[in-house]
Amino acid sequence: MKSMIVLLGPPGAGKGTQGEKLQTELGYIRLSTGDMLREAVRNGTELGKLAKTYMDSGALVPNDVIIGLMKDKIQSLGKVPGIIFDGFPRTVEQAEALDKELDVDLALNFDVADGELIERLTQRRSCPNPSCQAVYHLVYNAPKVAGKCDKCGSELYQRDDDKAETVKNRLEVYRKNTFPLIGYYTDAKKICTIPGTGDINAIFEQVKKAIQ
Ligand code: ADP
Ligand code: ADP
Ligand code: ZN
Repeated sequence: MKSMIVLLGPPGAGKGTQGEKLQTELGYIRLSTGDMLREAVRNGTELGKLAKTYMDSGALVPNDVIIGLMKDKIQSLGKVPGIIFDGFPRTVEQAEALDKELDVDLALNFDVADGELIERLTQRRSCPNPSCQAVYHLVYNAPKVAGKCDKCGSELYQRDDDKAETVKNRLEVYRKNTFPLIGYYTDAKKICTIPGTGDINAIFEQVKKAIQ
C-alpha cells in the first residue's frame, strides 16, 4: 500500500470525506491544514488570529506560515506507516517544501464540476469537535439526527467560509494557485485522477484501488 498520500482537488471535491475513511478504515494519520487552522482560530492563538484574516475571505494563508506548521507537525510525528495530506500542499511552493521532508508516493486528484462544488459547499455542515472533524451534507450525506454529529453527538455548524460569497472566491483561488499542482505531480508521475461524483462508498472503492 502507498504510504505518503496527498489529496488534491478543489474545495468541496470530497478530500475530507475520503480522507476520513482512509483514517478510520485503513489506519492512516490524516493531516488537514484546514482543521489545524480552524482549531487555532477557536483557541485564539497568534496563529489562529493571523490565519482568520485570510480564511474569512477565502484567501490562502501565507506559504511560510503553512510550511512552518506542517514541518513541525511532520517532525513531531516521527516515523509513521502512512500519512494522508488533506488540503496541503495548495501551492507549488508548498509541494516543493513537502518534497524536502518526505517522499510523496501518490497524489490522488478528485475531479468534480464547479456547479456541484458550489452546491456541496453551501450545504456542508461540519463537526466542531477537534478529535472528530466529520463532515456532512444536508442532502447527500445527512446526519442521522438533524444537526447532530453521528460520530460524537456534537452540534454541527456551517463554516463561515462555506457561505455562497466566499465559496466563489475559494474556487478562484483554487484555480489560480492549486490547480497547477496537477501538472507538478503529473511531471513527477505520481498523479491519479478519480471522478469525485456519485456514491461516496463507490468513490472510496476507487481510492482503495489507487493506493494499492
Ligand atoms: P473537501 O474536503 O474536498 O472540501 P468534503 O469532503 O468536505 O470536501 O465534501 C464537501 C461536501 O460535499 C460535504 O458536505 C460532503 O458531505 C459532500 N460530499 C462529499 N463527497 C460527496 C459525494 N460523492 N457526493 C455528494 N456529496 C459529497
Ligand atoms: P476545504 O476543505 O473546503 O478545501 P480547508 O478546510 O482545506 O477547505 O481550508 C480552509 C481554509 O484554510 C482555506 O480557504 C485557506 O484559507 C486555509 N488553508 C487550509 N490549508 C491551507 C494551505 N495548505 N495553504 C494555505 N491556506 C490554507
Ligand atoms: Zn463529531
